[in-house]
Amino acid sequence: MLYKSTRGSKDVKNAAQAVIQGISQDKGLFVPDSFPRLPFSLEDMKGKTYQEIADAVIHSFFTDYTEEEIKYCVNGAYDSKFETSEIVPLVNAGGAHFLELYHGRTAAFKDMALSILPYLMTTAMKKEQVDKKVVILTATSGDTGKAALEGFADVPNTEIIVFYPSEGVSQVQERQMVTQEGANTHVFAIRGNFDDAQTGVKNIFNDSQFAAGLAEAGCMLSSANSINIGRLIPQVAYYVYAYAKLMEQGAVKAEEGFNVVVPTGNFGNILAAYYAKQMGVPVNKLICASNENKVLTDFIQTGVYDAGRAFYLTNSPSMDILISSNLERLLYHLSGNKGEEISILMNALEKDKKYEVSADMKAGLKDFWAGFATIDETNAAIGKMYAENGYLMDTHTAVAYKVYEDYKKATGDDTPAVIASTASAYKFADSVAESIGLEIASDGFENVRRLHEKTGVRIPLGLKGLEDKEIKHKGVLDKDEMQSAVRNCLK
Ligand SMILES: *Cc1c(COP(=O)(O)O)cnc(C)c1O
Repeated sequence: MLYKSTRGSKDVKNAAQAVIQGISQDKGLFVPDSFPRLPFSLEDMKGKTYQEIADAVIHSFFTDYTEEEIKYCVNGAYDSKFETSEIVPLVNAGGAHFLELYHGRTAAFKDMALSILPYLMTTAMKKEQVDKKVVILTATSGDTGKAALEGFADVPNTEIIVFYPSEGVSQVQERQMVTQEGANTHVFAIRGNFDDAQTGVKNIFNDSQFAAGLAEAGCMLSSANSINIGRLIPQVAYYVYAYAKLMEQGAVKAEEGFNVVVPTGNFGNILAAYYAKQMGVPVNKLICASNENKVLTDFIQTGVYDAGRAFYLTNSPSMDILISSNLERLLYHLSGNKGEEISILMNALEKDKKYEVSADMKAGLKDFWAGFATIDETNAAIGKMYAENGYLMDTHTAVAYKVYEDYKKATGDDTPAVIASTASAYKFADSVAESIGLEIASDGFENVRRLHEKTGVRIPLGLKGLEDKEIKHKGVLDKDEMQSAVRNCLK
């Protein structure tokens, strides 16, 4: 299978090359040129382990890797680093099926892809005989950064550099990143928001002079953001797995459809569900949930993408995003692989912060339904779910649950639904503690303790002892200093 750029240039790669390069030379994102069918029948999926499904799904997209290579990557990634042997439990609460994607080392769903990306990347480097050091640049709204740091720490021939918005990540998220160990890890706060950090990283990627300088020094850039196809494809596996679990639990019969609800920021996670649907998993509706930064809600309802609007800091910071990168991939597929058309839209977005899609593309959006939740609605959802079902949701998952309730009200559709549960409640302990009626302290770590005392829900290992760890990364930068920071990291 080959990977093409969403912007229509002739930059065609195999999977290994696309993983190494991260983003296409024409600024587009790599996309598969067709969708493979599910490698097994729906009925045969029952009883398969997470690793078995991940092996088969990833290999059907990454055909230039051998079966042994994929197995090595999957087994290296999904092992005892995860705090549950199932890897992703499917838990029934409040009339929905929560796919708990946050039992990895950093307590957010980003671990699902970032545990395996270093394996896919280093395997690709061997296959392609890359003798350069790969420098991984990552912009984070809070969770990607830590997951990428954990994944790449001390991986030979890599450096990992993370930029996060100085205001807009939770105290726990920030502390997770600035205490990161590993000689090849670098972390900087950026004065600005996530879009500033992401744009800064994209600008570095697009600076060919900078790349030439790096090449002379024996380095090349890559990305651990969900613009990298090596992050997206492993995420497809858990939607296939979710369906297997729904069948095992008797919630659906083989072939019977289900809905998927995803708290969405950069559109990576929900796009993975769309890919699963294209492979033949019977997903009916893809329900896209946003917080007050509801650029995607408006887009899915109107076909107009308008990023020229106020940016809000919410209590679901990993979705505080106005430029949703992976939407570009969906548009490419919906356009019938017309890269030139996407290129025009993306240029309009850069120039005018706005574009409108064609009637054809708009028609393709019918698989999606979209809604949003305010901060108050998010907190109310957490409180109600805990009071009625004793189930603890983090703020992002709560946004999804609230939007799912709205969906049911609006449509009357009560098809079984899988909600992507994207983080441990402890990562956003302040909001969650307050939402279930606890008195909250000004210190986030105290709120972690109070939340634990009250609920008894296990604190993820990666969050234990965090406040006593040494702070190793103290850099704060303006966004125009990012490039020189990268240069300094490589000295
Ligand atoms: C990153 C993240 C999201 C958004 O996922 P996208 O793939 O960017 O849409 C939602 N919730 C949490 C907790 C996250 O870390």
